[in-house]
Amino acid sequence: MPRHLITSALPYANGPIHFGHVAGAYLPADVYARYLRLCGEEVLYVCGTDEHGVAITLKAEQEGLGYREYVDRWHDEIKGLFDRFQISFDHWSGTARCQHHAEASRRFFRILLERGHIFDRTEDQWFSPTLERFLPDRYLQGTCPNCSFEQARGDECPQCGNWIEARELKDPICTLDGSTPELRATKHWYIDLPKLQEEGLQAWYTGEDDTRPHGPWKPNVDGYVQAMLRDLHARPITRDLPWGIPVPEELEGAEGKVLYVWFDAPIGYVSATMEWAEQQGTPEAWADWWQNEDTRLTHFIGKDNIAFHVVVFPSMLLGLGQEWDGKRFQLPHNVPANEFYNLQGRKFNTSAGWYLDNEHFFGQYSADAARFYLLSSLPETSDSEFTWEGFQTANNALLADKLGNFASRVLKFNAKRFDGVVPESDGSLDADDALQTADARLGAIGAHIAAFEFRKAVAALMDGCDALNQFFDAHAPWKLIKSEDVEDQARCRAVLERCLAYLELISRRLSPFCPTAAERLATMMGEAMGEARWGDESAARRPARLAAGTTLGEAEVLFTKIDDDTIAAEIARLEGAVA
Ligand SMILES: [Zn+2]
Repeated sequence: MPRHLITSALPYANGPIHFGHVAGAYLPADVYARYLRLCGEEVLYVCGTDEHGVAITLKAEQEGLGYREYVDRWHDEIKGLFDRFQISFDHWSGTARCQHHAEASRRFFRILLERGHIFDRTEDQWFSPTLERFLPDRYLQGTCPNCSFEQARGDECPQCGNWIEARELKDPICTLDGSTPELRATKHWYIDLPKLQEEGLQAWYTGEDDTRPHGPWKPNVDGYVQAMLRDLHARPITRDLPWGIPVPEELEGAEGKVLYVWFDAPIGYVSATMEWAEQQGTPEAWADWWQNEDTRLTHFIGKDNIAFHVVVFPSMLLGLGQEWDGKRFQLPHNVPANEFYNLQGRKFNTSAGWYLDNEHFFGQYSADAARFYLLSSLPETSDSEFTWEGFQTANNALLADKLGNFASRVLKFNAKRFDGVVPESDGSLDADDALQTADARLGAIGAHIAAFEFRKAVAALMDGCDALNQFFDAHAPWKLIKSEDVEDQARCRAVLERCLAYLELISRRLSPFCPTAAERLATMMGEAMGEARWGDESAARRPARLAAGTTLGEAEVLFTKIDDDTIAAEIARLEGAVA
């Protein structure tokens, strides 16, 4: 049986995250993890903040904060939003706080170096004589050699989007003090991606290497990676920076150099697992996940991270060979990258006020409604967006009208007419057409989640609720109960028993998407609620008969509707924050 190691992209501890991030890499992973746990599968879901790199050192210096103080602030703030969304990490760490991270990163580096996958090269880099330091990436600003934009950065040009070789930047100045830098020779290390491509990456990616199976790549992932593999280059993996994982000290020229952030960040998944294992009291257990042929590794990411998770990190894992305790590492089984998620027609932009304030949002609305709406509008195949109107519709017309209403009318009717206990059914309606539709639709949810089709999964749940409402309406139990006919009375009991049995199933099917509402529905089902597991109900297997006389709980409102004025006020608030 496979065991599932699930990761979400390490958020950069350099600013707030927003709903767009949650929709891209966290909520889908959480639903996947919750579903597999309900199925009784072994799951480990790890994440943490990415706490190194130039963007962090530069911002911390500009704000006059120590690097650690700076990343600590964002580490906590970022976790706050994940908690609001009820993201169920098994372990949450960070690359500058995990005790295993530096050693694990250096061990990767040393093994790759020994095996000939890393080489060094001495070259000219910009150096500030006034600050007496090298100036990597964003510490430089100058004129783009491609488009002549005057505010290009040392690593890329925001105007033409081209990656820039810092040496080619024209008229560079230091972004810290405006001084003019000079070129000085310095040594750096490169990972030899073309060599790794030849020695296994290509065969793994295409599926030619059948010892390392993987799922079908999503089209958006495949398109990107195919293009990248046609023109792969060695990439520098070290930087002259005072913050990060020091290059192994035994190497000549290592002084003052750290591993480039994209080299050490994905190792954060491994070191976070080491930290988790240690906290469990089984320090060696991390290897049962990373070096176990039964492990199915899934990286949930946004599209901006495809290169690192499908090309660079797998190359690093492959390049280790069996040098790490005699065992090889698992490569990703799938990387279901999402496209971008916007807000009301524009990109999320926290500093410009174009975002949803977490305190305000979760003070008014439930995590369940937010999760459900994001899932129903995920950017799975193309960019998509959060709109307040869409949120209102998902909450009112779907959750409240379809699911909440079905639960409420069934439980209230049953409380009034059958004293809140399950009535005795003769089974005469078990094969009803509407119920067969419900079986098929509710039965499809699991396969959709397993295939990373979360929009289809929540749509199938709503279709199931539609079929159940139709069943209730078609048999009109409120009329049957008043009939003198014995057969009508029996049919009324059969209708209610089936509705209650499907309500119990809905509570389980709802659980990965809306965990709190699912739990409340379970409470409303009272003693009729089975154990918290996914179960094997499907098109071929209808929900089991509930025992007559079982006591139910009390009906409550599962989803509160949001009125038009509230939505208008939210839109005005959003637009006002920008104006
Ligand atoms: Zn440019």
